[in-house]
Parts: sequence; structure tokens; C-alpha cells
Amino acid sequence: MSESAGCFDFLRGRRSANEKDEAVVSLEVQQPPPHHGGSEVPADPCFLSSCDFGIIGDHRSPALLDAPPLYSQYDTLTLLDPAVIKTVETSLDSLNRSLRKLSLAIHDHPEIQFEERFAHDTLTAFMASHGFEVTKHYLGLETAWKAEFTQGKGGRVVGVNSEMDALPGIGHGCGHNLIAISGVGVALAIKVALQAHNIPAKVVLLGTPAEEGGGGKAILLQRGGYKEMDICLMSHPAAMPPRTATIGTSLAKQDITVKYLGHAAHAGVAPWEGKNALDAAFLAYANISALRQQIKPEERVHGIMEGKNWAPNVIPDNAKLRFITRAPTRDDVVRLRDRVIACFDAAALATGCRHHVKLDDAYDDLIQNSVLGRTFASFYKERYKGDTYPIDFSASTDFGNVTYEIPALHPAYGIPTQPGGGNHTKQFTRSARTEEAHEATILVTKALALTGVKVIKDDGLFEEIKKAFTRQI
Ligand SMILES: [Zn+2]
Ligand SMILES: [Zn+2]
Repeated sequence: MSESAGCFDFLRGRRSANEKDEAVVSLEVQQPPPHHGGSEVPADPCFLSSCDFGIIGDHRSPALLDAPPLYSQYDTLTLLDPAVIKTVETSLDSLNRSLRKLSLAIHDHPEIQFEERFAHDTLTAFMASHGFEVTKHYLGLETAWKAEFTQGKGGRVVGVNSEMDALPGIGHGCGHNLIAISGVGVALAIKVALQAHNIPAKVVLLGTPAEEGGGGKAILLQRGGYKEMDICLMSHPAAMPPRTATIGTSLAKQDITVKYLGHAAHAGVAPWEGKNALDAAFLAYANISALRQQIKPEERVHGIMEGKNWAPNVIPDNAKLRFITRAPTRDDVVRLRDRVIACFDAAALATGCRHHVKLDDAYDDLIQNSVLGRTFASFYKERYKGDTYPIDFSASTDFGNVTYEIPALHPAYGIPTQPGGGNHTKQFTRSARTEEAHEATILVTKALALTGVKVIKDDGLFEEIKKAFTRQI
């Protein structure tokens, strides 16, 4: 796992998937500066990082700050009963310090994919103490969980997601401690509003493991974990200016593992008796490096190699490569995947090694519901002076799979970071622990909670959301 940031270009030239929906704002903005921006734990767990948010270069460029807040120009607040808004905001203000403690506790106990046991136990205990019905080890995943609250009979079901996993050797360098408490905050604030104003509805918070590889949401989705939800909401911190959010698509991705099996031999005495698996891995890597010149700018292929018991005086008889392919859509990523597999096949042929190709996680691109996006952006702007931009990411997330099934929203939002300290760096780990990052998270949490309550209360808006979902998919 490299520390180098890699896959979230803040702005890219490609069209957003959201443009499929004519109701979405135009993306013809001045280009802001580049940014970098059952228990089915695999038998042979590997780590393939997926989301990667950050900014390259001057992330406070006026070009970004001065660009018009395109989403926010819609729906100036006739949005929600002021009394309900006050309930949501007051509840989150009173929860602020408890959420801060939760965030620090999770940050200080970083756990990687499918090992989020501390986070699982801490968050489920917290939700139970706030009156939620909790299901631990949800749908056969040891570190997944569900917390639900129902007010009255009938009404809509708002889903929320809390990610929990960290990166090996880096800790919470993607800020999932902040995502965790944001999900908790959204669910709790909606519950308080439903109770205080006697609004019939249900809120369901899922604790979703293994976003950075493993695809916890994709597994929960396959097992029906999202079935009852009318919409689903979550957010993600990124290296962007404070009070800035982005709602764009992300790249679909396919993870691939290939194993080469050769034949060991004494490297000095009888190298001709060997079949060199390291050579196969090396050739595969070189093939892919050449392929990169002939792929589209928005596509990505990156990976690592490893071997067991390699020694310089033995022809290596084994090698393993773990690669990630990314492209704008599901279909694009299948085409790219096949070209990469051809590189693997060619290396096996050249070296005489046997090889086995395994397809791992497949994450879909994000389809951000345009109506949910505008609703969020309006609250974020009107209540918290936050600007929201329609900007695409080169990251990938298993929330993309969710967005293909139900109307959903996944804004990224800015937390203060150091230059060169984007997502997936140790500097970002430190940034995700700061009070400033916490306060930025609370503002987005408020805007998301208000969005959720608005969807529950407003039948016309919900109809618009469904129509947009049909248009966009
Ligand atoms: Zn990440
Ligand atoms: Zn992340």
C-alpha cells in the first residue's frame, strides 16, 4: 500500500454521469485547480485501497473559491419548517461533544477492512444508548451493523451510512472516523426531529465495513441491506477549502489478483530448469506500463506485486500481483479490465508459468441523485454558507453500487489540510483529527440531516427524486 495519493483528481474534463439528467446544473465551469485530491472476509485478504480523496497543489485557489455555487443557485430556502430546522440544528449542537469523543476514539483505534471491531462495538453501544434498535454483525458481516428508529406508522425510510475502516500503516488517512460520526449525527438528528414533531417515518443507519477494499456496502446491498430504504445519504471528507462540497460522479473500478506459478531451480547451477514467476510478474507490470499510454486520460491502472520466500539464488516459483482498474462507468471498466488481463496472460505465455486471474471487488461509479444534490446544496448554502460544486472524482467507492439501486447522495466536503497532505497520507490522518475538521463535518451533517427530514416531509420532492433517479440510471 503506497502512501502516494492517486485517484481523486479534483476536477477532470470528462462529463459527469449526472449530466445524463437534464435537471442537473451545467458543468461548464471554469476549471478549478487540479487536486489530488457471511462473514465474507476473503480467505486470502488483500488490501486494495479504493477511495482516495485529496487535492494537488494550491487547494485554496481563487479559481475554485470564486466559481459560482452552481448547485446552490436552486431552491433558496422555502425548504423546511423553521421549527424543524431548529430542532435538527439544536440536537446536533447538543451532540457535538459526544460526537467529537466518538470520532477521536475511532481515530485512535484504526482498524482496516473487516477488522473494525472496536468501531462496531463503540458505535452500536452509542446508538443503543440513544434509543435506536441495534442489530450487530448485520447480514453475516462481523463488523457491519444496523441501527434503526421508527416514529409512528408509515412514512418514508431514510438510510444513512457510516464508514469505519482505516488504511494499513496510515490510520484514518481517509477520514472515515469523520464519516462514522457524520452518519451517527444524521441519524440521531432525524430521530429527534421525527419525535419532536411527530412525523411518521423511519431512519436506518448502516455501519458499513471495508470501503478501502472489500466492498462492505456491495455485500450488504446484495444481501438486501438497503431494500427498505427510499433514499440513502452519506458524506466524505476531502482536501478542499472549508465550507466547500462537491457532488460529482466517481470512477467505477474492478480489482484483480493474479497469481503466477512457476518452477524453482538453483539460479546458478541450473537456471534452465526453472520457470520464473518473478519474471512473469515483471513482464506483466511492464505490459501494463506500456498499455497505460493507450488508455484514456480518465482511466487508471495501478497495482503492486509480491512473492513468498523469494531469494536471489533461487528462481522464484511464485508471484502475486494486485491491481486496480478504474474507468468512468461499469461498462468502461469491463473493457479496461479485459485489456489488463491480456497483459497478465501474455506474461504467463512468455515465461511458461501457470497463472490464475481472480476478479475481486467491483465498485460502480456514483450516480448522485440530482434532486437530493440540489436539496443538500440549498441547505448547505443557506444555513452554513457552504458552496457546492458539480465536480467529478477519480476515486471509487462501494457507495456507487448503492446509487445504482436507490436514490442516493454522497457529497465530498472540505477539511483543512496541509499542502501535499491529501487523502491516503499521514498528514491527512492528522487533519482528520483536528477540531476544524470536526466542525466542518458537523455542518455537512446538519445539511444532510435537514435533507433527510425534507425528503420525509415533502411528497412532491420525493416524487422529483424518484423521477430523477429513473432519468439518471
Ligand atoms: Zn480512502
Ligand atoms: Zn475514504
